[in-house]
Amino acid sequence: MTTTNYLQLMSPLRCCMPGEFLQEGFCPYRPAWMMPGQSWDRPGLFCERHRPFAAVPLSGDVAVRRLELRTAIYFASIKGSSAAAQQEALHTLISLVERAGGLVNLVDSSSVMGLWRVPALSASQHGQTGKGSG
Ligand SMILES: [Zn+2]
Repeated sequence: MTTTNYLQLMSPLRCCMPGEFLQEGFCPYRPAWMMPGQSWDRPGLFCERHRPFAAVPLSGDVAVRRLELRTAIYFASIKGSSAAAQQEALHTLISLVERAGGLVNLVDSSSVMGLWRVPALSASQHGQTGKGSG
């Protein structure tokens, strides 16, 4: 399969070093080098650290696969207005996604006011921050 479509929206490219060789599971660095013959099914983009000997400087068009995940993400907010709540949530989401190497393209957002029945906590759960106890 070949494609000649130019992507108009793309997250920053990332080094293609296989994750099993890396502590984080993937290399987070931007590529500066590419293997000759790089194609959509042979990614072949590498950072300075993982550059193969035969790599050439990254230039021109590169074939990439862009993933688009359509999902609903919910945040609880303590903001008084819908606009402030959505701005806070979007800022948080963008920060998290960019740290993971992605790009947020907000399609739609909404907020709703409602009641939430708080689950009963055991005595040992009172006072925890919700970030886990280790
Ligand atoms: Zn790398």
